[in-house]
Amino acid sequence: MPSDIRGDRLSPAEVESNFADLHPLLSKHEAYVEADRCYFCHDAPCVTACPTGIDIPLFIRQILTDNPSGSAKTILGANILGGMCARVCPTETLCEQVCVRETAEQKPVRIGELQRYATDHLMAAGVHPFERAAPTGKKVAVVGAGPAGVSCAHRLSMHGHDVTIYEAKSKGGGLNEYGIAAYKAVDEFARRELDFVLSIGGIELKTGMALGRDVSLDALVGDYDAVFLGLGLGATNGLGIAGEQLEGVVDAVDFIEDLRQAPALEKVAVGRRVVVIGGGMTAIDAAVQSKLLGAEEVTLVYRRGADRMNASAYEQSLAKEKGVVLRHWARPEKIEAGSDGKAAAISFMKTREEGGKLVDTGEQYELQADMVLKAIGQAFTPAPLKGANTEIALEGGRIKAGADRRTSHPKIWAGGDAVAGGEDLTVAAVEDGKQAALSIHAALTGA
Ligand SMILES: Cc1cc2nc3c(=O)[nH]c(=O)nc-3n(C[C@H](O)[C@H](O)[C@H](O)COP(=O)(O)OP(=O)(O)OC[C@H]3O[C@@H](n4cnc5c(N)ncnc54)[C@H](O)[C@@H]3O)c2cc1C
Ligand code: SF4
Repeated sequence: MPSDIRGDRLSPAEVESNFADLHPLLSKHEAYVEADRCYFCHDAPCVTACPTGIDIPLFIRQILTDNPSGSAKTILGANILGGMCARVCPTETLCEQVCVRETAEQKPVRIGELQRYATDHLMAAGVHPFERAAPTGKKVAVVGAGPAGVSCAHRLSMHGHDVTIYEAKSKGGGLNEYGIAAYKAVDEFARRELDFVLSIGGIELKTGMALGRDVSLDALVGDYDAVFLGLGLGATNGLGIAGEQLEGVVDAVDFIEDLRQAPALEKVAVGRRVVVIGGGMTAIDAAVQSKLLGAEEVTLVYRRGADRMNASAYEQSLAKEKGVVLRHWARPEKIEAGSDGKAAAISFMKTREEGGKLVDTGEQYELQADMVLKAIGQAFTPAPLKGANTEIALEGGRIKAGADRRTSHPKIWAGGDAVAGGEDLTVAAVEDGKQAALSIHAALTGA
């Protein structure tokens, strides 16, 4: 069977309907009814479970008292990307998992959807809710305009510092713009939210400016009072198997980036039979979006059991609901070419766990696949940090930073995916940026 990777598998109307908003905005009535379910717990466990510590019972009460703008301000004061986090946070493993309503009734308060209700309301009004403090005369360079960098820049600006963001790509937003599944952030939400955040003023975004290529760390350390690195993860892990170089074998993050930037989704090329390797959010998102683009068969293969996948149970059930077949306990062995020289099939070795170790069972199987999407993790690229006079310690291949996100260099802070020990979640990156900004502010002003 020749390779059949192409766009136009479905009509524009079908694709539009497939990629519709995953959780449409609650109506005012729905928001009231949902907010009314909250017990407004003292020592609310949902607050502790939120990496940015949003006062959830307070913002829910503000919705109930018909004050959605005040509610949004409560949210954004703790998490300036509260609008995106309302859409992409795995709430089922964070705030909603510990909600006392979940324990009592297996039905938590829909905190994420209420958060979106409030933040969408405020953003629609087009007014930025925070003012800058009096100028401090201090200048900070932020590298990377992803959630970590943008959150850091915003908090610094609130404190009166002037910020310049250096971003390698042509657009800001990081993975909010290039990585998040299209059905989670419809209507160019990433761009609109970035504009909203930057509208506080005092932040200059320089796109097409890569650290290590267009500007050096030495220069930033010399020119600015402090530097924040929110570089994300620049590399992807390979499978290391025969056939990986064949046409049709693609990094899932590249596939998703092309999809997110496509002017018309129905034109995005996808295989007829797609196999996705991996068990995280990227694997699920790549598989689901392949199916929504019209791939006939999409199979996700993970080397261990369902309970070991990084993707939550909710994400896994979403994939199944959209028609993705999930297969566990197998590792890829070889990708075979068809008569046209392109990927045509992939063979797997079944696995099992023995004394905590993954071992082969000796049993193999093969799946037809003209498209193989690799989603087995990303890695930090330290190359941009190389400077003649500046050195930063790494840990486990990522930047080492303390609880205040300061690195081993006294003028450099770092956060988000680029930092060791992180959770690789949007909300965790936002919190890192905020904590780093607070620490930079304290270091620059003694506050
Ligand atoms: C496909 C995919 C789907 C995901 N889905 C979810 C989800 O649904 N929910 C969730 O919570 N998390 C999700 N995540 C994880 C989440 O997107 C990340 O944890 C988050 O974006 C990390 O933010 P960051 O600012 O550290 O890095 P990034 O978002 O990666 O931003 C880093 C920025 O730095 C820039 N940069 C890199 N190198 C340089 C350089 N040398 N010079 C200048 N700029 C540079 C990059 O271009 C980028 O704009 C997903 C990740 C992926 C890959
Ligand atoms: S745990 Fe649930 S019920 Fe309690 S305050 Fe948080 S959202 Fe409300």
